[in-house]
Amino acid sequence: MRYLYLVLAIAGLAGVLATRRIRPDYVLVIHGGAGAISRAAMTPEKETAYRAGLQEALDAGRTILAAGGTAEDAVEASIRLLEDNPLFNAGRGAVLTHEGTAELDASFMSGRTGMAGAVAGVKTVRHPIAAARRVMENSEHVMLTGAGAEAFSAAQGLEIVSNRFFITEDRTRQLREVQAAEKQQTTPDPRDPARHKRGTVGAVALDKHGNLAAGTSTGGMTNKRYGRVGDAPIIGAGTYADNATCAVSCTGHGEYFIRNVVAYDVAARMRYGHTSLTTAAEEIIHQKLPPLGGTGGLIAVDKEGHITMPFNTEGMYRAFVTSTGETRVAIYQD
Ligand code: ASP
Repeated sequence: MRYLYLVLAIAGLAGVLATRRIRPDYVLVIHGGAGAISRAAMTPEKETAYRAGLQEALDAGRTILAAGGTAEDAVEASIRLLEDNPLFNAGRGAVLTHEGTAELDASFMSGRTGMAGAVAGVKTVRHPIAAARRVMENSEHVMLTGAGAEAFSAAQGLEIVSNRFFITEDRTRQLREVQAAEKQQTTPDPRDPARHKRGTVGAVALDKHGNLAAGTSTGGMTNKRYGRVGDAPIIGAGTYADNATCAVSCTGHGEYFIRNVVAYDVAARMRYGHTSLTTAAEEIIHQKLPPLGGTGGLIAVDKEGHITMPFNTEGMYRAFVTSTGETRVAIYQD
């Protein structure tokens, strides 16, 4: 009988040890936008290129975190590469406005300091994410727009380019298609997400010092007019970070993400409702937004290194890596 108790005790202890999660030293999660990414329209070459782009951005951030660098540096490094990659809707290869120009938005937040920065409607700053971080670190403001944001970025020594630098053939064709479809529609449904080709890039990180950071960068919506600005540069809507809870970066139909203050809602549910990161994020993306017509997704990491990447669209370009060796690059619901 005594042996039986001993065996049961050992088995129980082994079970506890086996299920105990090891908190990772660092975590990096990135996204390249959520939307109608259909397998039918995706060629194997294109899929390989998207996956390689995500992997390259992930590697850049991971190298920084593994060496003991900050979450802020990792987020900026990953997003800069995604901005330079013409496949993603941010920086070069951003979607085009009604007038055929690129107008870029970005935001950055540090969970360590609670400080935040953003730029909206910039046309000449090569890396809008770097501009957003400079606003956070080197100005007394949170958000700068248009020509003023560009002048500030130049004064900070950031790279300034011509608007043509951002414009690719693919995005020019996409704009023509969207505008042709718009002309044919007699009663356009402004809620139809397929009407506007979108996308965004973002990153969230937990570093070895226990600090969180988040960043988001986008060209917004194809064919946007009148200086339209989405959720990506709005702190609390597209981006949020707080060491007490989590770091979040969103992608999707920006108007819905602004009205529902999505990024902050994840943190607020954790802080005030004592909800887990995954439950908080999934409830918003799968229960709160769909009845309203809000399509999109988000990536998030909490202070314990838990990761969540929910989306309610066909796909979301996404990837993560942790210090414990877990890593994944994914596009569809799998
Ligand atoms: N959220 C972005 C915007 O509304 C677009 C996207 O993420 O797809 O500007």
